[in-house]
Amino acid sequence: EGSDATDTTEQADDTADEGDDSGDTATAGDGSIWVLLPDSASSARWETDDRRFFEQAFDEAGVEYNIVNAEGDAQQQISQAEQAIASGASVILFVNLDSGSGAAIIDLARSADVAVIDYDRLTIEGPGADVYVSFDNVEVGRTMASVLEPAIDDLGVETPRVVMLNGGPTDNNATLFREGYAETVEPRVEAGDWELVADESVPEWDNAEALTIFEQILVDAGNDVNAVFAANDGLANSVIAARKNAGLDPFPVSGQDATVGGIQNILAGDQTMTVYKPIAAEAAAAAEAAIALLNGEDVAALADGQTINNGSADLPFIALEPVAVTADNVADTVIADGFRTWEEICVGD
Ligand code: BGC
Repeated sequence: EGSDATDTTEQADDTADEGDDSGDTATAGDGSIWVLLPDSASSARWETDDRRFFEQAFDEAGVEYNIVNAEGDAQQQISQAEQAIASGASVILFVNLDSGSGAAIIDLARSADVAVIDYDRLTIEGPGADVYVSFDNVEVGRTMASVLEPAIDDLGVETPRVVMLNGGPTDNNATLFREGYAETVEPRVEAGDWELVADESVPEWDNAEALTIFEQILVDAGNDVNAVFAANDGLANSVIAARKNAGLDPFPVSGQDATVGGIQNILAGDQTMTVYKPIAAEAAAAAEAAIALLNGEDVAALADGQTINNGSADLPFIALEPVAVTADNVADTVIADGFRTWEEICVGD
């Protein structure tokens, strides 16, 4: 346990060390860090939050960097990795669009002696990245259930009818989020307390498709739905739109990412909660790992000995803690942290 991760790191070291006595992991090129973001449509977080926090961290450290976005196109992301390598990048920090293209990017990086960081999503095919920075994503799903379960029980409905609206099937996180809330939903359904109306995934987390999918769920259910485990704020917003279009009263809905839209829906009484994942801390931890790799330092030390298996290797895993946000603690969580401002939330009011 843990030894595979060391091997992986050392392999990168060994290859990069050829003809270089300094022991640097990645010494090629101009020493820049490339960040490959996945899209801007599946969640507001990537362009609104992750980008600015990376800019901040890299500007403060005074390192060269480049942030690009594949806009949901996996082939485009592979091209961006090739471009990064061709221009002499030392570290690629990326959010995969699916594990196949993610593994291809890790392979490309490896053969060019470029270090690679899996950011937020784990690439579960191929040799694995040098390090993974994310949250305990099963815990993210549990956090949703921790607020939604009591909200559903409080409805006073005899047998509440619940829906699980899951994220994109090619995103390993979507599987883990579902695992987290299914830990609550499945036993309640098996016990006969709740009825499961639908358990559906939204390809690529596409918000427009989520609207169509949930509208169809409502039609099939004769509008008889009492709560929705929606895997992020974008999907939650589609659920709320469909619910309003059908002329139904608000019901418990979960979310994730503490987006401006999500917090607005919470304060309007349309969404029960969101999971706030401190993205500033996530980006700062990944930036720190990127800089360590740039300097040929050991990233395992940053993970406090924690590892995660991607299917073929144990990688050092830098894991952060998710926080539940409801109307009652917006001020004490996202606002107090400086993650959101009242100004951006109250725009248009
Ligand atoms: C991220 C979420 C995000 C979703 C859609 C997941 O992998 O962890 O924060 O909402 O992708 O982009």
